[in-house]
Amino acid sequence: MGTKGREIVGVNVDELLTLLNKAYADEWLAYYQYWVGAKVAKGRMRGIIAKELEEHAAEELEHAEKLVERMIQLGGSPLLTPESIMKESNCGYDAPTNPNTKALLIQNIKGEQCAIETYVKILAFVKGKDPITEKLILEILEDEVEHEEDLQAMLEDMETPVK
Ligand code: FE
Ligand code: FE
Ligand code: MG
Repeated sequence: MGTKGREIVGVNVDELLTLLNKAYADEWLAYYQYWVGAKVAKGRMRGIIAKELEEHAAEELEHAEKLVERMIQLGGSPLLTPESIMKESNCGYDAPTNPNTKALLIQNIKGEQCAIETYVKILAFVKGKDPITEKLILEILEDEVEHEEDLQAMLEDMETPVK
């Protein structure tokens, strides 16, 4: 990163890089959990739910992309192995061993809630001290809030009795 660009970062860069890498690990695992969940999904509203899971998978991958760009700008490196991704993740990996669409929704809602908590913490860490990262994290947080809402709305639709 440029000299001036580094100067305006008012937080400990190593600490920030650790937080960003942990979130990056979450994004990869979320990506895979959604992606593979969409493949194995079975049961009620399968078509529409699988499509939504696929969409979310693509968005989680975009989040990973944004995080890696910022880490590189800050002079860091993304995690390089699947082992380190598993180890560093905040939210972990919840394998979709039950392919039932309702179970998938519940599982991924939990993941989104963990993501929201993670980004709220990072946001508090950089707030007013690193405007570039702050903006980036806010953008990702907006998506995660939307993801949770999308999945909860689908779960609600699924549970609405047919009249
Ligand atoms: Fe994400
Ligand atoms: Fe998400
Ligand atoms: Mg959505």
